[in-house]
Amino acid sequence: MRYFPLFADLHGRRVLVVGGGEVAERKVRLLLEAGAEVSIVSPELTPRLTDKTSGAYAGALARARAGEGGRSPGEGPVSGSAIHIAGCFDPAHLDGAVLAIAATNDPAVNARVAQAGRERNVLVNVVDVAELSSFIVPAIVDRSPLVIAISTGGVAPVLARLVRERIETTIDESFGALAGLLQRWRSRIKSALPDVGARRRFYEKVVRGTVAQAVRARQADAAEAELQSLLTEAHAPPRGSVTLVGAGPGDPGLLTLNALRAMQQADVILHDRLVSEDVLSLARRDADRISVGKMAGGHSVGQGRIHELMLEHARAGRHVVRLKGGDPFIFGRGGEELEFLAAHGIPFQVVPGITAALACGAYAGIPLTHRDHAQSVRLVTAHTGDALDGLDWPALAQERQTLALYMGVAGLEKIGEQLVAHGRGASTPVAVVENGSRADQCVTITNLGELSVVAREGGICSPALVIVGEVAALAAKLHWFGAAPRTLGALSAAA
Ligand code: SAH
Repeated sequence: MRYFPLFADLHGRRVLVVGGGEVAERKVRLLLEAGAEVSIVSPELTPRLTDKTSGAYAGALARARAGEGGRSPGEGPVSGSAIHIAGCFDPAHLDGAVLAIAATNDPAVNARVAQAGRERNVLVNVVDVAELSSFIVPAIVDRSPLVIAISTGGVAPVLARLVRERIETTIDESFGALAGLLQRWRSRIKSALPDVGARRRFYEKVVRGTVAQAVRARQADAAEAELQSLLTEAHAPPRGSVTLVGAGPGDPGLLTLNALRAMQQADVILHDRLVSEDVLSLARRDADRISVGKMAGGHSVGQGRIHELMLEHARAGRHVVRLKGGDPFIFGRGGEELEFLAAHGIPFQVVPGITAALACGAYAGIPLTHRDHAQSVRLVTAHTGDALDGLDWPALAQERQTLALYMGVAGLEKIGEQLVAHGRGASTPVAVVENGSRADQCVTITNLGELSVVAREGGICSPALVIVGEVAALAAKLHWFGAAPRTLGALSAAA
């Protein structure tokens, strides 16, 4: 960045303007609006500049001072004052000035002002000559107290004007009125809502909701009334909520816009171990993050404790995001959590996510259904031991369907044995997708008969999804993401 952007408080500070023509006129007008005490050096002044130095401005300033006893930053416009120093520029004119603007039509004079400024450490702007200037004046969109400054560092003034026009049209006059309204209410809002988080939410509501609408409709009284009623409402004990959010399988690009919004408005995020760092990094920075990750077998935070945490934070008025890998309603205990919240009267919402079966299918090049091979898909949890024994193996072993087995790493061997024992061919393709959609995704293609070998020797790690069915073999030719799949054992059908 070539220039340091800043907004200077010139109220009551001396600024020298060298030149008395039309260019000087524009600069003086702006300086007076900013409350500066302007000295204009020039043999002659335009009639308008003469007018400005006639005392009317000085009078306005004096009145404003008497009335307000000084001005605090950001308060409404108070005119500054201007005096005329009739004659030619002398470096001594810079004494006591904080800034100077050279606006004559004589390049030699402008250069002398620049030089004298450098010697005295006074910042000088030579109008339209960036090389001689130690500061430049941006194009502005003035919606005071909201002011937008635009600069291309002097290299493309026309572009800056174009940008200004665009902003002029999107940031209409009502933004100024809204900023003014917030300025007048600032201290009342601050004392009514001492909590920073509550205040932020309140302001969000004001600038995006009915108050802003009323301001846009030029209904100043309605806007004030609406603001008052919002403030009364916000003052009531805060009402927290829980949003159950599906974080998808890992690739942050697979988050929904609603998931992102919820994460950016959260006060507290309770997340599982399966939620990737890439996804977590998109959450609001100052949200509290609590990992309630569960390992298969060794539960790190029990389900009961997760319920308690949601309740505690929501009752304290916080927006809780319960962030789960994949989709919250697919093997995520989302149902139980909502039942608990409903029983305790905590308001909730659900944002679905892309479940592992869909993501692993897509990222491994395995269409879960296919006209030639599979007319249905079953999502099955193959959580170790007893759970596996309870599965309806005859139904799972039927042909022309795809099985997506979650949590199946420990049960790989048993899955292969049972499906073959119940009639599915030993050569039926199987794909094991580890870390689906993540940079370290790894796909192994094998068949049901070989699954026990893969289980013992394949080094398969969690999280992994097991896809059983002819479509699994398609990964060999349709893979497009990450490392190419490795193939263990002979394959049938679609390969
Ligand atoms: N609610 C989650 C599933 C939770 S159960 C969802 O909808 O995806 C956890 C199991 O999901 C893991 O054991 C694994 O089988 C699967 N899984 C989750 N993320 C995965 C990923 N990125 N790659 C492969 N499998 C994944």
